[in-house]
Amino acid sequence: MNIVRINVNSLKIDFEEISNDSKYYLLGARGLTSQIVHDEVPPKCNPLGPENKLILANGLLTGSPFPNSARTSVGSKSPLTNGIKEANVGGRPSLMLAKYGIRALIFEDVSSELKILLIDESGIELLLGNEYKGLGNYELHQRLRGIYGENIGIYSIGPAGEHKMASATVAANDLEGYPSRHAARGGLGAVMGAKNIKAIVIKPPKDSKVKMHDLKKFREASTPFAKELAETKKVFSTYGTALMMRITSEHQGIPTKNFRMGSFDKISNISGEKLHDLVIARGGKKNLACSPYCVIKCSNLVVDENGNHITSSLEYETMCLNGTNLLIDDLDSLAKIDHFCDDVGIDTIEFGGTVGVAMDCGKIPWGDANSVLNILDKEIRNNTELGILYGNGVKNIGEKLNAQRIPEVKGQGISAYDPRVFKGMGVTYATSPMGADHTSGAAIAGRVASQTKDYGELTKNEGKFDLSFELQVYTTVLDSMGCCYFIGPSYEVMEIVTSAINAMYNLELSIEDVINIGKNILKTELAFNEKAGITKDLNDLPKFLKQEPSEPSNLKFTFTKEELQNFWKKLN
Ligand code: SF4
Repeated sequence: MNIVRINVNSLKIDFEEISNDSKYYLLGARGLTSQIVHDEVPPKCNPLGPENKLILANGLLTGSPFPNSARTSVGSKSPLTNGIKEANVGGRPSLMLAKYGIRALIFEDVSSELKILLIDESGIELLLGNEYKGLGNYELHQRLRGIYGENIGIYSIGPAGEHKMASATVAANDLEGYPSRHAARGGLGAVMGAKNIKAIVIKPPKDSKVKMHDLKKFREASTPFAKELAETKKVFSTYGTALMMRITSEHQGIPTKNFRMGSFDKISNISGEKLHDLVIARGGKKNLACSPYCVIKCSNLVVDENGNHITSSLEYETMCLNGTNLLIDDLDSLAKIDHFCDDVGIDTIEFGGTVGVAMDCGKIPWGDANSVLNILDKEIRNNTELGILYGNGVKNIGEKLNAQRIPEVKGQGISAYDPRVFKGMGVTYATSPMGADHTSGAAIAGRVASQTKDYGELTKNEGKFDLSFELQVYTTVLDSMGCCYFIGPSYEVMEIVTSAINAMYNLELSIEDVINIGKNILKTELAFNEKAGITKDLNDLPKFLKQEPSEPSNLKFTFTKEELQNFWKKLN
């Protein structure tokens, strides 16, 4: 496997082979992006300047048939948090990169002209991309497919990335061909925009350079696991993550009205069950895989009354932050908001949180979906003053409007689980090196990190430091393997991953060795953040979540700042 360095200014492209004795040999995806950021990016640099680097890296298991393993991590210093950032994405292109023998692409410097990177059988080259300037992801992908072929893989940015907005995403095309998958969190699309790279286009490779040492042993580990996942996660194939709408509302922990409440009286209008029925009735699609080798298939395709595509895939976090959180209670509006977020290339979670603060400050009426759509399609797309206000995240708008209730940690908006109810999730938000990111250690209802341990009740503090710590370590391992975390960040899954990685790479790692990969990555990320000024002093939640009870649960977040500051001591 190779690392490819692309200097977007000098146009120089260098290949570095990752040999067995390379320090990068056992680093993939998040592990590799974070190590390179740590080693090569000055911690205090301007995230949008020439010293920052944008890295796209595949996981150690990407390219193999391990379930849900075709994901790419995008990493950089974040313009949103000013700390280290990794966000991962499925879709079509990851497997193509792996087949070309590419573990990572590193973009260096900045370019004054818009470019695209083309990867095909003849090599890798930077091409001028001025003709694509200002295009939304939907039209961009359509044009690129017209030029380079229907089956290409694409990573791209929309107008928000070109405008260097701190909530901008890096999009990838899904297996249906839509730009619906996003490395969404942390503004990595703005870094790609600063490098002036509009798209990375990958033509399908003829052969695969992925090596598998012992396929028989590999299958012994992965095949029963894939069958078990397909069987036990059927409910996610049927309803998608939207199923969480009703469940989280019943737990009284679904952020509602800018985190004032934890349940929504109109939840049945926008539940996963309602979405399922609507999709089926209109002839949309359910049970879709976003990337090759996914066996859970949680994605959907939503169409309008005439059967025309609105969006794919409408997910829980998007529906919560832009639905309950804004008191918008119709599915068509949510599908359109998701479509425009995907098109302009903006994080649906950060955007919904941002609008929630604006509504709380009286800038937009609660439930006004038309104004929200207008902000996306007109203001953000055209980089107006208002668009800049809404495109730079929760913290930015909160400070500009002098808001008292700003749901963010380390500059990143809090996701779709009220931390006053989901106590373990609250610990993850407060302590993750990534800011308030539920995917870093998703302590959702019923989630355990080991089948043999008791982590206490959902709403109680007992056991939640252990739960969040273990979930964060195991999730970091899965992120580094290129695996979707829906396969489960648990000790039991670590055992399966260990067998698979040993069979693929001819290794004899113990389960503890694999867990230590995760711990070492976290240490590397925390070390970078410390030097960047994102210190353990910032391990905390906003005051309002500690002072104001969520309704109707009447719960507050009660961990002390001192406890949260000491959270990572166990890593040493
Ligand atoms: S479970 Fe869902 S998010 Fe994960 S790889 Fe499959 S379709 Fe994509």
